[in-house]
Amino acid sequence: MTRTQWMRWTRRPDPRHGALAVLSAAAVTALAVLVTLLVPPTPTAYGAGIALTGPIVRPDENPLFAIQDVLARQSAALLRGDRDGYLQAIPADDAPLREQAGRRFDSLTALRVRRWTMATADLPSQVNDAWRVPVDVGYCFADDDCTPVQLRVSTKWSVVHGRLRLAGYEQTRRPWDATALTVKEGSRVTVAGPADDPRVTPAVLDRVLRAAEAATGTDDRFAASFDGPPRRYFVYVAGEEQWKGWYAGGSANAAAYTIPLQPGASDVVVDHGTLTDSWLPTLITHEFAHVVTLGGVAPPAAAWWLTEGIATYIANGSGGELRNELPSVRSYVAAGRWDGSVTLTGPPADATFEETAACYGIALLAVTYLAQHYGEAKMLAFFTEVVRKRRPVDTAAQSVFGVPWKSISADATAAVRAAAN
Ligand SMILES: [Zn+2]
Repeated sequence: MTRTQWMRWTRRPDPRHGALAVLSAAAVTALAVLVTLLVPPTPTAYGAGIALTGPIVRPDENPLFAIQDVLARQSAALLRGDRDGYLQAIPADDAPLREQAGRRFDSLTALRVRRWTMATADLPSQVNDAWRVPVDVGYCFADDDCTPVQLRVSTKWSVVHGRLRLAGYEQTRRPWDATALTVKEGSRVTVAGPADDPRVTPAVLDRVLRAAEAATGTDDRFAASFDGPPRRYFVYVAGEEQWKGWYAGGSANAAAYTIPLQPGASDVVVDHGTLTDSWLPTLITHEFAHVVTLGGVAPPAAAWWLTEGIATYIANGSGGELRNELPSVRSYVAAGRWDGSVTLTGPPADATFEETAACYGIALLAVTYLAQHYGEAKMLAFFTEVVRKRRPVDTAAQSVFGVPWKSISADATAAVRAAAN
């Protein structure tokens, strides 16, 4: 299986029911897969003035310090909003590299980048005429006290006429790196979308921002039982190209996903094609529920039912989730397709809407049973034990509920069957 549970998915609205039903988080892809697109070296051409401004590198000298100097200057230029300064290390005649860097600068600036550090992660190594060195980037947006997200990129450098110049910089699949962004900022949420996609208009971004700001009330409340409300939520609205291009790419059956970046940091990506007004609040509440319950850490695959069950439970609010999934649960159970286990590991990759909806519905009913029977606080504590601390379900059941999992599981199964009748 090439895909993992790294991303948490929400399926598209079911066309048969005409609306919601947060579901299908089919198992998915590995974390941010970084695609290296190093620009080929241009050994002879160099721009007037530009290349001459690179630090001097003596023959036989390792360019480590020169590279560190360029990275420090570039970072400082970015943080003070100096586009020319940011591009200074990049050869004037290397249009693709300059375009890539310019786009990155513009998107990072639009996101109000507040921290940006670049540290060499190794000694540069020489391969043919080029020097290669991985660089650790730390970045965060919008708030002065934001916690940097770590990202490693590969870089390539050349020394031309005794001066250092950038020859290649890894193009990552982070939204701000891959796409020129338009950004909307609310008090709790930043929403960004491609600047050049006519379907992801500023009005669409405004609509998402309004729904997302409203969703924070519910999700912040649940966050109090975990790591506390995040400093800020980030939502990226993908056009068609970005749905495939950002991170590991979105599944055709999904409407949104949450990607845990590191403890305390997650990105939410939603597909612009699924943003109906009635669907949007549930969709965003569900994804933000992943943000606050997982806290930026990938959940164990075996706890799919609990991971999706809790997000669906949090987004269920007035019962809309359950109403949309219950018909699928009923037909799934009536057809004898459910083996009675509540610890589902997710719908198969080729699952139909019906199957997927049924799995989400069963997960929701199981988590709802735990919350109603033992109280919401204990249900949340159980989630923490199993998903965040990765304890076996029976150990967690004994410590949180004081009851063996076997008996809880049997009662939860009975509750699901009762609801499905
Ligand atoms: Zn989900």
